[in-house]
Amino acid sequence: MKRVLVLLFVLCIGAQAKFIPDPIVRYKIDARLDPSAKTVKGREVIVWQNQTNESIPDLQFHLYLNAFKNNYSSFMREGGAESRRVPFRNKADAWGYEQVHSLKVDGQDLTGAMHFIQPDDGNPHDQTVLRVPLPRPIAPKGSVTIEIDWTSKLPWVFARTGFHDNFFLIAQWFPKPGVFEPAGQYRRTFAGELTDPLLARLSAAKGGWNTHQFHMSTEFYADFGTFDVNLTVPSDYEVAATGSERSKKDNGDGTTTYNYYQEDVHDFAWTTQPRSQVMKLVRWFRADEQVKPHELQEWSRRHGLPPEQVKLTDVKVTLFIQREHKDQIDRHFRAVFAGLKWYGLMYGAYPYDVATVVDPPYQGDGAGGMEYPTFFTAGTEYWQSGNGGDPEGVTIHEFGHQYWYGMVASNEFEEAWLDEGLNSYSTTKTEAFEYGRFHNYEKIFGVPVPAVSWLNLPVPRYPWYGIDRIAVGQYWEWVPIDPFRSRARRYLENAQTDAMQRPAWMLLHRPSYGDQAYSKPEQTLHTLEALLGDKWWPAIRTYHQRFRFKHPTAHDFMNTIQEVSGRDLKWFFDQTLYGTGLLNYSVSFSSGPMDERQGFFDQNGNPELAKDGNTDKRPIESEVLVRRLGEMIFPVVVRVKFEDGSEVREQWDGLYRWTKFYYKNKPRIVSAELDPENAWKLEVPRTDNSYLGKPNTLAAEKWYLRWVVWIQNVLSAFSYFA
Ligand SMILES: [Zn+2]
Repeated sequence: MKRVLVLLFVLCIGAQAKFIPDPIVRYKIDARLDPSAKTVKGREVIVWQNQTNESIPDLQFHLYLNAFKNNYSSFMREGGAESRRVPFRNKADAWGYEQVHSLKVDGQDLTGAMHFIQPDDGNPHDQTVLRVPLPRPIAPKGSVTIEIDWTSKLPWVFARTGFHDNFFLIAQWFPKPGVFEPAGQYRRTFAGELTDPLLARLSAAKGGWNTHQFHMSTEFYADFGTFDVNLTVPSDYEVAATGSERSKKDNGDGTTTYNYYQEDVHDFAWTTQPRSQVMKLVRWFRADEQVKPHELQEWSRRHGLPPEQVKLTDVKVTLFIQREHKDQIDRHFRAVFAGLKWYGLMYGAYPYDVATVVDPPYQGDGAGGMEYPTFFTAGTEYWQSGNGGDPEGVTIHEFGHQYWYGMVASNEFEEAWLDEGLNSYSTTKTEAFEYGRFHNYEKIFGVPVPAVSWLNLPVPRYPWYGIDRIAVGQYWEWVPIDPFRSRARRYLENAQTDAMQRPAWMLLHRPSYGDQAYSKPEQTLHTLEALLGDKWWPAIRTYHQRFRFKHPTAHDFMNTIQEVSGRDLKWFFDQTLYGTGLLNYSVSFSSGPMDERQGFFDQNGNPELAKDGNTDKRPIESEVLVRRLGEMIFPVVVRVKFEDGSEVREQWDGLYRWTKFYYKNKPRIVSAELDPENAWKLEVPRTDNSYLGKPNTLAAEKWYLRWVVWIQNVLSAFSYFA
């Protein structure tokens, strides 16, 4: 067979970036993979601009792969080995590191001055932050050219990056400058700040480098810039990466060099694997075909914007998929298209030309469920259920990070919820818009089977029985997954452990991170949506649009939502972002005729003893009791239904520990429900939110379904930890 050499010389290297004309950082990277040694040898030239008015005395770099250098790194000491869905396997080739061989600044060799620092925890063994003092400070508005030669030994992939056999997901792999924050530009405030010296230091008003160590539960933060990257791999390997492939050159020595380029992004990741194992497919997202005219109308109405401003753009979508998963090609594309469509309608058109989704191989799924700019990894199984929401959920979620982690780019070390929380909320919305509900059970050849693949743990087939009214068969075929159940449980278990507004590595443990970064913010945002009604979409879209490429903080979020909605929400944010209380109210009632008369009652002005068993028609009296069981205070709505079908909606400020509503001359109450629209997703547990007059088997049914659904949601919940 004849090899076709494709040689493309692209001469537009100096072209202006689309959104950030003068970025802080520009990378030119040359990288060569040695697939047998599991190493990448690299050389990078970084032009870094000081856009502040401060003199900067040093440079600081992330060397993330040193988290995997040994078991004394902060990442590993914090429990990183067991923190992902795939545990670390302690074998010689599984460790990884990032070694800088030489570092020059403006031509001057500063290799000898390099040293590691540990700004977060003082762990002397942690080598994830490199510092180099400069002979002359970088002048205000000045710039430096940094040249670095280094080698990255890739870890066996269990935490986002590394190799499995000949599959490589190469991420957090190059020496990367931290973010220099000038005095007063970013001031984050955290719960517990006044009593915690470390937190007080973090929010200091002085400028400086924001270069955190790599921790078990932290993600990333970096300046936007341009990436011009040459990747050299064996010629029989397929490649996908951040940005667009601009050229491909056969080196004549069994290797091929690909050039990838992307502007207005803050990271670069890539993947490579023998072509015999993977396929690379392209489909175009055509905005006019994907978004129906009535959908455009509807979203322009919701945002209060003309349709031209809500319109989406075409995007080239690339799928890098294992050949063994080829029957799921369409599902991956549909999920990415759903992301492009619904995130686009909610927050604004996707600004990049390309989006690439990577499906890691079986046993390489430590690389799955992770986001990088214009490039993200999903994850699927050999035989996947049709309606269980996998791989759709993870694909939409990781795509969705393009909007938060990618474009808005808050500091994930310090305010993880601004990415994961907003994205979890957006994922749930998108799944509902596109798919309705996913299902736990489905029917295959008439036989009900759990809607999870056989490679996952099976759920119990015969949960406790005895609920005679439930149509078990039907539910087994088609139990809808309530996306809120597992999150509500995680929130209930961890809400009182930590505050949402707290740096990720300072949370007590991994489940608390799961709550503070994912579940609680998601429940908070759904609750806020319910609270703001039609003000919600203009407010959240404005936040996204205003802070694209700007690294906003929680203050920017709170201020924008309040400004656009015109509401004072301090009480809400104080309790949800900084507070650690639960939102939990309960309702109950008593309703019935007044007691039988006993004792003396006046009859024609004279006391007369009531007769036993008097059968006078006694008036019905009712009272509804609402109690505040949690610390969080929230305006309460109760729907009370009466025997004659009438109903009233009661409102209460929720402030004191309880209140009562009294009814006379009304029929008996049949039910009282808190939050009848089921809109306050922060409210847990929900079992005390409705009260029925008579014992009713419905509650038992609910418990049965909840139990089944919870187990499955727990099984699938970990896919959101990325
Ligand atoms: Zn995520």
